Amino acid sequence: VSLDKGLEKTKDNFFAKISKAVVGKSTVDDEVLDNLEEILVTSDVGVSTTLKIVERVQNRVAKDKYTNVSELNNILREEVQALLEENNSTNFEQMDYGNHKPYVIMVVGVNGVGKTTTIGKLAYQLKQAGQKVVIGAADTFRAAAVEQIQLWGKRADVRVVSQGMNADPASVAFDTIQSAVANNEDVVIIDTAGRLHNKVGLMNELSKIKKVMDRVVPGAPHEILLVLDASTGQNAIEQCKQFTQATDVNALALTKLDGTAKGGVVIGISDQFKIPVKYIGVGEKMTDLQLFNKKEFVDSLFS
Ligand code: GDP
Repeated sequence: VSLDKGLEKTKDNFFAKISKAVVGKSTVDDEVLDNLEEILVTSDVGVSTTLKIVERVQNRVAKDKYTNVSELNNILREEVQALLEENNSTNFEQMDYGNHKPYVIMVVGVNGVGKTTTIGKLAYQLKQAGQKVVIGAADTFRAAAVEQIQLWGKRADVRVVSQGMNADPASVAFDTIQSAVANNEDVVIIDTAGRLHNKVGLMNELSKIKKVMDRVVPGAPHEILLVLDASTGQNAIEQCKQFTQATDVNALALTKLDGTAKGGVVIGISDQFKIPVKYIGVGEKMTDLQLFNKKEFVDSLFS
């Protein structure tokens, strides 16, 4: 699925609202700005980010007393992009997996957000790009999780290390990384259980796995990838809060953008947490994971 297609529902929702907001208006006045504020909030951009965007648009409009409503879209696009650019400078497109060998990714997130699917897609894409990849099935809490990850491993033609259900996740992580070193593999992707039972429990579980990783490969995990379901809107923001408090998340994957009108949450999350959105999921197929590109995203949203 292309980015444009993936963002279709968000775009339709957003533009329908914007066109309503400017009906009968010729210039961008206070009323239009108020409407814009409401639209952004109801598009899951989040209140604080919305206020920032509206203020930026307002400053632009104030410079030119008679901004035609037809320019609103363009001004919005520019200001949203500028906001995203200011927020996180990491450019993941240029990230070199080769800087670390193996490069270790710990994947976290609650059940149902698309964690397994994202791991499968990622493994497939890295493999296609010529990397030697191994997956560690350290979400040992659910039998289905281990089976599912094995299925994805088969589809992606990637090795999966598993000790079955109820195994110690840290032990699975240890085995996986150790065997990756022995096999001279490039990238290790470790699945973890997505239990948000309580924050201390989650923190302890993740820090135990992290410690083991660091013991086998000093500095690992190099990436802690939090997977969030964009279609849950404000819930995704809440989960992001919980997980960033529990562990050092340094990359985000936002899934299910194709099925939702809540794509604005990408802007809100990016702004609120200053953690780079690295991937977006735009479908259920193996190829439906894209590296997030701020400019492409905003261009597509406002095209
Ligand atoms: P997990 O419990 O977090 O591991 O979630 P799964 O990976 O099993 O995914 C839950 C459901 O979401 C599955 O039906 C996936 O096919 C679906 N899914 C995952 N990512 C995407 C996506 O980007 N787009 C769509 N439309 N569905 C997705």
